[in-house]
Amino acid sequence: MKTGTCPKCNSKKVFCGAEIPLKKGPFGSNSIPIGLTSIAALDNYVCGECGYVERYVSNQGKLDEISRKWDTVELDEVAEK
Ligand SMILES: [Zn+2]
Repeated sequence: MKTGTCPKCNSKKVFCGAEIPLKKGPFGSNSIPIGLTSIAALDNYVCGECGYVERYVSNQGKLDEISRKWDTVELDEVAEK
């Protein structure tokens, strides 16, 4: 999606809301909670053809915070075989 192509319908009509004002959304609705007092705003990529949405945390400070506070997803042992 970040390369400008929709992974669902292959359309090139992909739009990015990374630079819109008030990106966190009303009441933080365009954000995810990291901890009690911290949220991370999301960059949305929207396909203008099929409406598919992809969301990213792009703020490096927030990504660092998540890697400190959140649990790592353990690899599924079955999938490794
Ligand atoms: Zn699409």
